[in-house]
Amino acid sequence: MVGTRRWVGVDLGGTWVRVVLADEAGNFVARAQERVDIASSEAISKQMVRLVRFLCSKRGFDAKTLAGVGIASAGPLVQEDGALINPPNLPFPCILLTKPITEELGVPSCLINDCAGAALGEHKFGAAKGHDNFVYTTISTGIGGGIIENGTLLLGKDGNGHEVGHFVIDCEGRLTCGCGRRGHWEAYCSGRNMPNYVRMRVKDLPDRTARESALTRKRGLDLSDLTAADLFEAAKGGDKLSRRLVSEIGLLNAMGFATAINAYDPSLITVGGTVTLKNEDAVLSPIKKHVKDYAINRIPKIMVTPLGEDVVLYGAVAAALKYLS
Ligand SMILES: [Zn+2]
Repeated sequence: MVGTRRWVGVDLGGTWVRVVLADEAGNFVARAQERVDIASSEAISKQMVRLVRFLCSKRGFDAKTLAGVGIASAGPLVQEDGALINPPNLPFPCILLTKPITEELGVPSCLINDCAGAALGEHKFGAAKGHDNFVYTTISTGIGGGIIENGTLLLGKDGNGHEVGHFVIDCEGRLTCGCGRRGHWEAYCSGRNMPNYVRMRVKDLPDRTARESALTRKRGLDLSDLTAADLFEAAKGGDKLSRRLVSEIGLLNAMGFATAINAYDPSLITVGGTVTLKNEDAVLSPIKKHVKDYAINRIPKIMVTPLGEDVVLYGAVAAALKYLS
């Protein structure tokens, strides 16, 4: 790698922190992953510094020679301060990231929302190369998005200007979102909240026959331990009720996608996130089928991200290249 500038990408999730060392072309040359150290808010940046130093020493060079460190994390965040503010997945009111990392490593660093980062990563290294109007969506524990409009990444005043997961898709507001508001897309269709949707629907079903399914057979009507994976598994196994619920969730996803299409008029939407990557057809088919019922703009190509589980890491590297070059 002599003569090549080396970059670091960090994907900070609620459970895992993943770090890669990359060259300018976005090739990952080393990677590491650990459970996020939540001993204190300072422990998180210290852990990142340790992992960066570990990867550099593994490749035989000094971390001081790095060109920059890009960190992508779920928000809310204040991009300018390089800090997370009241993140729902981590137990601290404020987590400073870029300041301690830059001080400790002596290299520049930047912070970006994970989905905005993923959009940058897809645009630079993935399927969205050459697309000036592009939406990245993740259906994972939560639902998020990143938008490139007329070639520019949409950020908003604090770097949170793409919270598509909180689009309203149910005006009756039957379910409450993790953010505390009602009727949001994420409250129905994210991995964490999908079981709430199932419980609500099963409770509403008129008779015993309708409720009888692979889901209720094991648990009775107490579905408190149900996961999104259970629902998809039962649907794949041909269970009638599960298939119906998966397609209802697909219809709600189609409303979310249509709203993104109406708002941003993209030529491409790529979709990532664990729920999507593990159930590609069950997630994408109903969206493709129903999105036209709600969208006014010409329907773009909708596809699973080719960057898979690494899309946010590519995004962190792309953010470093964009903001620190
Ligand atoms: Zn919400």
